[in-house]
Amino acid sequence: MDPLIFVINELRKLNTIVDNHFIKLPQIVAVGAQSAGKSSVIEGIVGWSFLPRGNDIVTRCPLVLNLVNVPEDDQRRQKTGITGDWATLDHINNKNFTDFEEVENEIRNKVPPKTVSSIPIILTIYSHKVVDLSLVDLPGTIKVNLEDKDNTMKQDIKAMVEEYVKNPKSLILAVTPANNDANNSDALHIAKKYDPERIRTICVLTKIDLMDKGTNAYDLLTGKKFPVKLGIIGVRCRSQEEILNKTSVEDCLAQEAEFFQKNYRPIARKNGMPYLRQQLNKLLVNHIAKHLPGLRDEINNMVNEQLIIQAELGAPPSEDPEMTVNEVIRIFAELFNKLLDGYQHDIETD
Ligand code: GDP
Ligand code: MG
Repeated sequence: MDPLIFVINELRKLNTIVDNHFIKLPQIVAVGAQSAGKSSVIEGIVGWSFLPRGNDIVTRCPLVLNLVNVPEDDQRRQKTGITGDWATLDHINNKNFTDFEEVENEIRNKVPPKTVSSIPIILTIYSHKVVDLSLVDLPGTIKVNLEDKDNTMKQDIKAMVEEYVKNPKSLILAVTPANNDANNSDALHIAKKYDPERIRTICVLTKIDLMDKGTNAYDLLTGKKFPVKLGIIGVRCRSQEEILNKTSVEDCLAQEAEFFQKNYRPIARKNGMPYLRQQLNKLLVNHIAKHLPGLRDEINNMVNEQLIIQAELGAPPSEDPEMTVNEVIRIFAELFNKLLDGYQHDIETD
């Protein structure tokens, strides 16, 4: 795995021990209205089907998805004895999932129905087919609480999405369906509000194949309508019919390539799922690298502050079974500095 993405993933695990927003970490967060195509985009990035789907709101908590590229002759495979792809869930210890339907059920059942939770599920997928990437899938925004008026899901989802998106270290993956007017796109509205200069927004345009006859997405894809510094990438995901027919993600990727060649030949190379994967990997690595010096200062300052507080209050009782915040911060800093030193060493000896 790219060492930079690894550093951030390790920090993220520690982050969840204390508080999800303990330290703001660089990350990619996927936002968009319900049914905009977020799950479809994520499955396209991963290369197969594993996310719960249905007409109801199925993503009800943040899903941190870590993709780890494991070549077919990698030693980690020999350790696990698994020849294909596998996944782990952080809240289930010591289990390598090879049945992705089981993963889907675990995700689906983690949060009780009709509620949302801000506690993230951390899912790691190991495969030779994926690029190293880590992204957070958030519940889709909804317009109204249809089921009962006391349900606060709409407001809860909005607050959760905003919490992630307003982190200046988040890259916003704004998923927007091309068959709706972009002016009505929830994702673009959120991105505009929290990233008015559009410097940390990547727009993914879904459902290009469903646009009205006689219209096309050239103006959107070339940034004429909504300029975004990090790019606007069009994709053609699996339709509901293809899902029902169990058309493989691979077959759909072939169809997608054909679709762009046929309809958007001059810009076909800069669209489609394979291009999106590569771009996201590159953007994330650059983005983390940019934030590392600031993160190091932030963490070291926290350690110093904690040391001062501890000196004033005296040491905590030694038999205290709970890990103190102070201890977590210390581990955090130690790990971070160690990994960072290792990384710089890697660069120097490359
Ligand atoms: P989410 O709620 O944002 O996660 O949306 P989903 O990924 O579940 O997609 C909603 C519906 O739109 C599903 O039936 C998908 O099959 C369909 N869909 C998503 N993207 C595309 C696309 O690019 N083309 C077509 N034809 N259908 C799509
Ligand atoms: Mg979804």
